[in-house]
Amino acid sequence: MEKTTKINTSGIINNKTTDPNKILPMTYLWARKHYQAGVANNWTPEEVSMQKDVEQWKDPKFLTEDERRMIIWNLGFFSTAESLTANNLVLAVYRHVTNPECRQYLLRQAYEEAVHTDTFIYCCDTLGLNPDDIYQMYETIPSIAAKDRFVIDMTESIFNPTFQVTDFQSLRKFLHDLIGYYVIMEGIFFYAGFAMMLALKRQNKMVGIGEQFEYIMRDESIHLAFGCDLINTITQENPALWTADFKSEITALIKQAVVFESQYAKDACPRGLLGISSDQFVNYVEHIADRRLERIGLDKVYNTENPFPWMSQSTDLSKEKYFFESRVTEYRTGGSLEW
Ligand code: MN
Ligand code: FE
Repeated sequence: MEKTTKINTSGIINNKTTDPNKILPMTYLWARKHYQAGVANNWTPEEVSMQKDVEQWKDPKFLTEDERRMIIWNLGFFSTAESLTANNLVLAVYRHVTNPECRQYLLRQAYEEAVHTDTFIYCCDTLGLNPDDIYQMYETIPSIAAKDRFVIDMTESIFNPTFQVTDFQSLRKFLHDLIGYYVIMEGIFFYAGFAMMLALKRQNKMVGIGEQFEYIMRDESIHLAFGCDLINTITQENPALWTADFKSEITALIKQAVVFESQYAKDACPRGLLGISSDQFVNYVEHIADRRLERIGLDKVYNTENPFPWMSQSTDLSKEKYFFESRVTEYRTGGSLEW
């Protein structure tokens, strides 16, 4: 049965003929497309002015206690989550994905994760936050620790330095871990926070941080798209892997992730926020979880309507124009100067 099923050795994973140093000619053009999308979205945190944010943060009356809690919670989660994803990427994923155009994308992604980590250094510095308070939250705040623990447990196999993708079983583990990393961490665990910070920005509160989160979300939506294309390519090249049992195992993990992300949303804004109830944040998480399930060829679970249609303007890659019309365009112009 399963044990006798061979894995595809002429595809994207464990292809013995792949020379990681020869990027041309390319086989997986989607990887190149994501690389170019990442480059087109280049930004650095210092480009975003934090002057107004600093004034609003220092004014004891401008933000409510609930709004402050929400901001701190998200800084607490993201400040360490960005490093966690960067480490996963460089120490685990990169080792196993030897296809050169995919590695080229992974290098770009790793750089973007460094920019994201830098963004939270910048936020702590400009707002004068105590790094000890922020950077320990992933250990001391249960709803944050639970998400990180879930991802660390789920990506245990590829993190093991002796782990190799050699057979059907290990390829299945690899796929499982990729889903934990790309679909759950980057595709679900980041999104309640994105919605909260962008809701705040829509009310003209802490717009600098809001814009930073918007840029990060743009990057993350490309990371997620790359991850899903990688996952889908592996399952297309190894259809025997994608059994009904395995699919329901993955669906169950995604449902568990939705529970963790919902707990996090309720914990970060227990009384709701800006006229949005914490249940609406939960609905948003369910809505995006359905989109992730469908993206990797699984049936949706929740059928929850999107409570924040305005979020898709920022996440939906088909609406790239929305972004390129503003700041990114300026950057691109700068980049095309003649020397
Ligand atoms: Mn990131
Ligand atoms: Fe990412």
